[in-house]
Amino acid sequence: MTQAVKKLPRIEINEKFCKGCSICVDFCPTDVLELRGPVVAVKNLEACTRCQLCDLRCPDFAIQVFD
Ligand code: SF4
Ligand code: SF4
Repeated sequence: MTQAVKKLPRIEINEKFCKGCSICVDFCPTDVLELRGPVVAVKNLEACTRCQLCDLRCPDFAIQVFD
């Protein structure tokens, strides 16, 4: 029996736009994101549920989630 491979979402961060405000980090319900220096980074992509909250809440259009 073959096991289905879980397809992970893709999170794109535009480091030129991100100002490190941490809103996306705080809103993410599954703790996927973290601040790394002045910008946000993905620390646990496996936990992403594709809820899009980070994408919707970012005031600078700096983070996008693709299915
Ligand atoms: S909400 Fe937007 S600007 Fe703020 S840390 Fe997240 S990606 Fe960067
Ligand atoms: S889509 Fe949802 S679960 Fe995934 S990183 Fe953004 S807020 Fe977190």
